Amino acid sequence: MRFDLWGQPVEVYRNANFSIYSRQPCNAKCHFCVEELRPASRGRSLSVQKTVEDDDGRYFDAMAASLEALRPLDPTISVTGGEPSHDPRLPRILALGQAHQGRKRTLTTNGSGLLQQREGKRVIDWIVDTGIQHLNISRAHPDHDRNARLMVMKDGLRADELRSVVAAATAGGTRVRLSCVLLEGQIDAVEPIVDYLRFARSLGVDNVIFRQLMKTDPAAVVENHVVKYSDRARVRLEPLLDALSADARFSFERQIVGYYYYVEVFRFEDMDVVFEEADLAQLEETKRSGPGIVHELIFHPNARLASTWHPWDGVLGPPPSMRASLATS
Ligand code: SF4
Repeated sequence: MRFDLWGQPVEVYRNANFSIYSRQPCNAKCHFCVEELRPASRGRSLSVQKTVEDDDGRYFDAMAASLEALRPLDPTISVTGGEPSHDPRLPRILALGQAHQGRKRTLTTNGSGLLQQREGKRVIDWIVDTGIQHLNISRAHPDHDRNARLMVMKDGLRADELRSVVAAATAGGTRVRLSCVLLEGQIDAVEPIVDYLRFARSLGVDNVIFRQLMKTDPAAVVENHVVKYSDRARVRLEPLLDALSADARFSFERQIVGYYYYVEVFRFEDMDVVFEEADLAQLEETKRSGPGIVHELIFHPNARLASTWHPWDGVLGPPPSMRASLATS
């Protein structure tokens, strides 16, 4: 879709998503962290490339200006991190997304802050009351202690706490999805997947995504601990999908071929079960073969809108003149 963005013509993938990347550092330290993996795939470290706009006024003015400028596209909106459930700015972020009536709004979290109070109510209640349709909760294993070890997170929710989060979400019309990485020796085959699905169902969840650990771009990657762990622990999705196709408990629904990801959707009993693999090298290749086309819209912690997950690459705005007037208004 072509339209003018702050006076400049842009060509944007029709289904592009507007991602609000929370500045809040994550309280977990997953060995396979995607937030760390993305900069590593471009040869940088997260600590070097992540900068923050500390001034709330400038931050929210730039976010509102970006949402307004993207109105012709009417993008879906997702809030991600970092860890948004611990972000003091989250209530205002959610309210702004609601005010702009994003056609589908999603929040992704490791879940640990959902029962905390923020500005007078629980974070889960902020999420439900501002009309978030989909809440993705990352969980690497049904067992609490194993999950805590895999995600290096002391304060993750226990099953009974998760159950109360799911109940509050469902009562308010927010659909919860559990997101599980496929890890060698953990959730890595059909039976552990079935066990995970039964755990999800026991919490009231009817929607689970299993992800192959992302592949990185060998031409640019820095081999840090996250890249090495991901290469070591990655479970190949293809043979797993073959095994699922031959298993009568699963029925294949559809596939989606994205610009750097591949998805298959199955049904298991009354549940939607999604499998995804993604390759950051493929993302770079897609950008090379279609230069100038914007596939992603990321609102970074430094209050800049960019077409990549890197605040130094593909910066779209707001333009400097507008930032100056926002700062003085
Ligand atoms: S919960 Fe998400 S952001 Fe936090 S360390 Fe794990 S993968 Fe990274």
